[in-house]
This record gives sequence, C-alpha cells and structure tokens, in this order.
Amino acid sequence: PPDVEALGRSTWTLLHSITATYPTAPTASQQDNARGFLRSFASLYPCWVCAEDFQDWMKTNTPRVSSRDEFGRWMCEAHNAVNVKLGKDVFECSRWEERWRTGWKD
Ligand code: FAD
Repeated sequence: PPDVEALGRSTWTLLHSITATYPTAPTASQQDNARGFLRSFASLYPCWVCAEDFQDWMKTNTPRVSSRDEFGRWMCEAHNAVNVKLGKDVFECSRWEERWRTGWKD
C-alpha cells in the first residue's frame, strides 16, 4: 500500500492546484466536471480510511464549485478537517490563494 503521508502531501498539491487553476466564472459543465471529479476521487483515493472519512465529510459539506475562490476555500476547509482529525495546525483559509496560486506577499 502507498505511504499515506507522501501520498497525502502530493495529493493535496494536486487538489489545491486544481482549485488554483479553476475558472473564476466556471460554466455549468465545468462545475459538473468538478463535482464529478470529487465524487470519483473520494471513491478511488488509495487510502481507504481516508477516502471513507472524506466521503462522510462531503455529505455535510457539499462541494462549492461556483467560482475559483469558492472552490479554493472549500478545498481549504476539507484539508482543515483532516488537519483537525490528525492534530495538525489549522490553515488560515483567507490565504489559500497566496499559498497555492499567487505566492506569499511580503
Ligand atoms: P499536508 O497536510 O499534506 O499539507 C501540505 C501543505 O499544504 C502544507 O505544508 C501547507 O503548506 C498546506 N496546507 C495545510 N493545510 C492547508 C489547508 N487547509 N488549505 C490549503 N493548504 C494547506 N492522513 C491520515 O493519516 N489519515 C487520514 O484519514 C487522512 N485523510 C486524508 C484525506 C485526504 C482527502 C487527503 C488528500 C489526505 C489525507 N491524509 C490522511 C494525509 C494528510 O492529510 C497529510 O497529507 C499527511 O499527514 C502529510 O501531512 P503534512 O504535515 O506533510 O502536510
């Protein structure tokens, strides 16, 4: 089985990068694609306990994909839910774009 920590780090990079390049004004079909991707991702993620908890979390935290900022913040909240579960620091979601798209401001 894959290394859950290394898998997690590279997967968060992929997920946040997807939100960072998501359109600011997505079409209905782009929003459908995002929702479909998340549904498939949550059922295929190769850490089964992680995938199960993520699916449960998504039931009460419906994906918000109406814009880049909504999607980016939703993904940040998803990541924070895992951070809390693992006892890691919570990330300030107003700064998600600085971390994953524009780079930190000095
Ligand atoms: P990571 O949590 O991997 O974060 C990488 C970088 O992202 C950080 O250095 C930081 O710069 C940035 N970051 C941190 N928080 C946020 C945020 N909220 N928003 C934006 N950027 C942020 N591991 C388990 O042991 N059990 C699980 O149940 C589990 N479930 C997971 C579910 C999913 C969907 C994913 C993708 C991963 C899961 N993991 C799980 C792995 C876990 O989340 C971490 O990836 C892993 O523990 C490595 O942590 P890390 O401290 O290196 O940083």
